[in-house]
Amino acid sequence: MLELTHTTKTHDESRQGEALEMVATGKSNGRKLYIESYGCQMNFSDSEIVASILTDQGFETTKDYKEADVVFINTCSIRENAEQRVRNRLKEFESAKAKNPGMIVGVLGCMAERLKSKFLEEEKLVDVVVGPDAYRDLPNLIDKVDDGSKAVNVLLSREETYADISPVRLNSNGVSAFISIMRGCDNMCSFCVVPFTRGRERSRDPQSIVKEATYLFHAGYREVTLLGQNVDSYKYTPVVEEGKETSATVNFANLLALVADVSPELRVRFSTSHPKDITDEVLYTMARYENICKYIHLPVQSGNSRVLELMNRTYDREWYIDRVDAIRRIIPECGISTDVITGFCTETEDEHQETLSMMDYVKYDFAYMFAYSERPGTLAAKRYEDDVPEEVKKRRLTEVVNKQQEHSLYRVQNFVGKTHKVLIEGFSKRSDQDYCGRNDQNTMVVFPVDPRYKVGQYVHVLGESCTSATLIGRIID
Ligand code: SF4
Repeated sequence: MLELTHTTKTHDESRQGEALEMVATGKSNGRKLYIESYGCQMNFSDSEIVASILTDQGFETTKDYKEADVVFINTCSIRENAEQRVRNRLKEFESAKAKNPGMIVGVLGCMAERLKSKFLEEEKLVDVVVGPDAYRDLPNLIDKVDDGSKAVNVLLSREETYADISPVRLNSNGVSAFISIMRGCDNMCSFCVVPFTRGRERSRDPQSIVKEATYLFHAGYREVTLLGQNVDSYKYTPVVEEGKETSATVNFANLLALVADVSPELRVRFSTSHPKDITDEVLYTMARYENICKYIHLPVQSGNSRVLELMNRTYDREWYIDRVDAIRRIIPECGISTDVITGFCTETEDEHQETLSMMDYVKYDFAYMFAYSERPGTLAAKRYEDDVPEEVKKRRLTEVVNKQQEHSLYRVQNFVGKTHKVLIEGFSKRSDQDYCGRNDQNTMVVFPVDPRYKVGQYVHVLGESCTSATLIGRIID
């Protein structure tokens, strides 16, 4: 499942505000499209859907908003500062629009869905507001603005999965790609806006997912990450035609196996899992397939059962520990990461200590950690007072971050002296003399370039040293 209040392991801070690369599909309408994305991987994947819909209309994408005819920001609404970032960015577009009055400025994604037409009142620069389920309507909405009026479509859908739209892979390394397998979320975690901004849960037809994975494999990709807010509740029951055989319902374990069967050379990852729904069947399926990576993003949010109940997470401390024990029993080498919120409404010092002791119990490989940020319209905002003082929230967050730093180092140190199968994803950010890629547990590995191997190939790397986030090694044959 995917960040969002729980950050999908794919909430990549370094990608925030990333603009599209140049893409054209041959038939041009002479207009240029610029899209900038914020938030979780779901949003980045949605931008690839938007690019596909509009390049089909003849738009060419550009990385420079100053030369664009249409400028879109795909927004995030997970915390107040995420929304403030969008408002600040819109201000930067004012001068470009002043120079090119015909430029269309639009907002997409969760903040657009949360604010709806109010966005037009609050931000005069904005011409079009489109929610996550209404991207097929974009060509029509752009026509409306061309005719001189503002346009809004924030209808949420119970069916829309964009299954028939092939995403335009943007800023891709050509090695790993994301495949969205479902949309929306039926959980109602009390701190979260996602159910209000992305609607009810719906799973995509597994055949279209396998087709996309197969296409990517033949296009040279060697890793796919299956995306959903809560992948464990993936469930697809085909509509049965009159007089036809009922074919079986496909659950997440089944889907994992279907995608892993595309090729043993195709690595499969997924995000995000939910403690209440992750089954032993999923864990045994992971254990059965060498090419399903041994890594799970399992948001805990809090280590205390009373706080978890207030958060409406639908599991308690004992249940979560039982799931971690099952992972350790069935896949001993599995990497686990998580999300933690500190300072949720009425959280006491002792309850905060239970979050720290949970971290000691699991010793996560990685974590996304945030101080509670009240979101308008959520259950928590309606029911509970945001009563933990900011300085207490921040102090608790620092304690959680320091604890995680220790555990991340402990986990990476355990990889030193061992050999890891690594998929070469590209060159290290630090030096083009080094390759980088991730091991099964999703830990970044850096090692000297060896001309016998190229990006997109698997190699075996012996871990020799590390930092708390990166394993450093060399290729061994
Ligand atoms: S409601 Fe809960 S499970 Fe759903 S996206 Fe939000 S945090 Fe994740």
